[in-house]
Amino acid sequence: MTTNNQFPAATILGYPRIGPRRELKKAVESFWAGNTSSEQLEETAAGLRRQTVARLSELGLNSTDSSIPGSFSYYDQVLDAAVAVGAIPRRFSHLVNADGGVDLDGYFTIARGEGELPPLEMTKWFDSNYHYLVPEIGPETDFAVGSDRSVREFREALDAGYRTRPVLVGPVTFLLLSKPSDESPEGFRPLSRLHDLLPVYAELLRRLADAGTEWVQLDEPGLVADYSTVSAEEVAQAAREAYAMLGDGAARPSIVVAAPYGDLNDALPALAASKVEALALDLVRGGVPRVDADTRAALAGKTLIAGVVDGHNVWRTDLAAAAKSIASVAELGTAVSVSTSTSLLHVPHNLEDETLLSPELASWLAFADQKTSEVVTLATALRDGREAVSDEFEAATRAIASRSESELVRADAVRQRAAALNEDDFNRSSFARRSAAQAEALNLPTLPTTTIGSFPQTSEVRRARSEFRKEVISEAEYEEAMRREIRRVIDLQTEIGLDVLVHGEPERNDMVQYFAENLEGFATTEHGWVQSYGSRCTRPPILFGDVSRERPITVPWARYAQSLTAKPVKGMLTGPVTILAWSFVRDDQPLGETANQVALALRDEVADLQVAGIGIIQVDEPALRELLPLRVADQAGYLEWSVKSFRLATSGVQDVTQIHTHLCYSEFGEVLEAIDGLNADVTSIEAARSRMEILADIDGSGFARGIGPGVYDIHSPRVPTTEEIDGLLTTALRHVNTNQLWVNPDCGLKTRGYAEVEQSLKNLTAAALRRREAL
Ligand code: GLN
Ligand code: ZN
Repeated sequence: MTTNNQFPAATILGYPRIGPRRELKKAVESFWAGNTSSEQLEETAAGLRRQTVARLSELGLNSTDSSIPGSFSYYDQVLDAAVAVGAIPRRFSHLVNADGGVDLDGYFTIARGEGELPPLEMTKWFDSNYHYLVPEIGPETDFAVGSDRSVREFREALDAGYRTRPVLVGPVTFLLLSKPSDESPEGFRPLSRLHDLLPVYAELLRRLADAGTEWVQLDEPGLVADYSTVSAEEVAQAAREAYAMLGDGAARPSIVVAAPYGDLNDALPALAASKVEALALDLVRGGVPRVDADTRAALAGKTLIAGVVDGHNVWRTDLAAAAKSIASVAELGTAVSVSTSTSLLHVPHNLEDETLLSPELASWLAFADQKTSEVVTLATALRDGREAVSDEFEAATRAIASRSESELVRADAVRQRAAALNEDDFNRSSFARRSAAQAEALNLPTLPTTTIGSFPQTSEVRRARSEFRKEVISEAEYEEAMRREIRRVIDLQTEIGLDVLVHGEPERNDMVQYFAENLEGFATTEHGWVQSYGSRCTRPPILFGDVSRERPITVPWARYAQSLTAKPVKGMLTGPVTILAWSFVRDDQPLGETANQVALALRDEVADLQVAGIGIIQVDEPALRELLPLRVADQAGYLEWSVKSFRLATSGVQDVTQIHTHLCYSEFGEVLEAIDGLNADVTSIEAARSRMEILADIDGSGFARGIGPGVYDIHSPRVPTTEEIDGLLTTALRHVNTNQLWVNPDCGLKTRGYAEVEQSLKNLTAAALRRREAL
């Protein structure tokens, strides 16, 4: 160990990197489009990093004692780690330079693929809506330091007068999040490479120490989750070995291991026993850990960082309550510091940019900058006593009280309706009865073809939406533009010969924001962008109060679309769980209660669609798995309320009305029971990328309702051939009955171009026809 310095009193685990006006997104996309050079992109990124350190120091983080995290990334921190340790899959080895690194072009190629080379797979980061790139590790992976970007960025900040704290994904989490490479033998587990990976981390730490780094943060959220292929003991053992090895390192900065998103459980004693100097705990999710005598003794020599300011949500912190948690953690370690529970990556930059929120609502909120100030306030209270910051504490207490008493938050009619629910409200008649009624009413061919809902969002559609918002065009003009698009989409589907049509969702900016804008209890922001993956950002609505629906939302569009065709047009709604998952949700009542309120609003919409003559209604729940708690022990409770809320939204219809749902991921097995529990007549799901692997889970499970495994990977501009789709359908038919199978893409077509979509859907219908005839 080279230093003997104290961990800073106040810090945050990470800061949004996209920029207050999405500067990074714009710069990166302009580079991809070939409009700017990599030098220009580097310059913009360096400017943003400068702006970030300056802003954080202005907000009160010390600029020279490692308080400010170096948490920048051009695309994704897991990809950064893969590049840093030389874990580049074989198919990309041509991108690796002589020094073992990749340039910016190569980096983005690994993230986004190129020609026939698929990118790294993307999946959800813990229980957030951030997506990371999945490293591919096999026996052939040749770990070696491949990028010194963290060193360069540290030096860059140091030259500007800031001593930052580089942040890296830790080795155990890195391997837990990896998947076996294509070259791996059956049963290979990336975690088995830990011993080969650790020396590379040790070398990275040495280089950082050489550059003058005093503290490094290794993020180990992997330690707060359970896995199906790795036991809790194995996870704890990996943590023990990793930090015994890194802790012993001769030349290294001090290490803080951060464990955001939950409870360390068995991994806490393992980390406590190591020589790492500090541990950052998520006290918002995990609570103050209960420890045995040995762990207590081991922790006594460490600094504990109390993550009391919620990095995952936008509510203002109850400073008095946070101070109490800090005090209980202080009893465990030698020293205590104050921090956020997670990186602030999940919240927007600055509340002050929001000028249109009601002042009352705004007074209950805190975005990244405000949360940084809260951390600083709490650290000041710890050092100088509460009196030193009594104004801030009082203001926080007042805001919390105002929120709990506000009329904005409570709607008695909504509460009464939710309280009066009974079993019947969650149930439909048997599937046998429903499917007979639907078969007669809908008269669909076997292997019916359909799409998932959205069609490409053209620039005309986007322009009309934005001109309407800016009042450049009238409501009537806007509606006419949308009707024009719906007509076009219906005509196209008719020409292609699809069986169940959609209106194409042109009126929706986003599948959650659209409903949030049309329901009571939600607010939306102007600049509240958060990174979803790479350059993609979303603007999650804020669900602050009881939810209700004043008037029909989607019915006029659906009715119009249905008026254009004799074929069934699917009504299209976003489900309650997904609306919650992609919003900032209130934290003052159980999520299940909020979900039921949303479900009741949707139930009314479903009923109105039925009355309007819409015979098939799809309720999308792509985020059902995303909110699944990280610990197995918590999952049953979650699945119970989430499934019930979907059933509440969809069980108010007659037998003839066919309910569809759509889920956007391929890990079917672990939530199969829940999917079955949704009781939808037809479920469409992503499957093309995994070549129908998911159907193996369904086989023999007794799942008897309709299923549409995606046969067209919409994440890529590639047009699948008829033969290819036919092959996937043939595979599917080995696992499910002929009368169960639907033919559809993996997901909505919103992000694709018309040319590729048209050809792909033609191939899809041709393949379905071919299979149908062969039956
Ligand atoms: N109906 C939505 C669409 O097609 C579903 C999107 C999703 O699953 N993420 O765009
Ligand atoms: Zn989807």
